[in-house]
Amino acid sequence: MENWRERLTQFMQGRYGGNDTFNKALFGVFLFFLLLAIFTGRTAVSTTLNLIAIAVLIYSYFRIFSRNIARRQAENQKFLEITAPVRSLFGKKSADKTHRIFSCPKCGQKMRVPMGKGKIEITCPNCRNKFIKRS
Ligand SMILES: [Zn+2]
Repeated sequence: MENWRERLTQFMQGRYGGNDTFNKALFGVFLFFLLLAIFTGRTAVSTTLNLIAIAVLIYSYFRIFSRNIARRQAENQKFLEITAPVRSLFGKKSADKTHRIFSCPKCGQKMRVPMGKGKIEITCPNCRNKFIKRS
């Protein structure tokens, strides 16, 4: 029996993976346009909405399989910067004074780390990247 999991891991080696906020947003946009297309029925508007939805989906898959990781990270960073004011409106307020939130420099995964431990090595739960931070 072929180990498809291993083959998938091999295939994804050196690829971005698209596990970031920007890709989640892209998928949300895709669903949004797809629903709009369904609600507008068989019209020219619906066709256009469908095309936009598909274009957005293709772009998000392009990001997942992209080998230009630095570029994809920059995109995500840019997206986070642009949407920061909006996200802070909707995101839950951080009242936690005992933890700090770090994001992985490699994949952008956010993680909670206890404060006041000095310099610590953090291992990203998502991509296993290790980095040093002062907590
Ligand atoms: Zn990571």
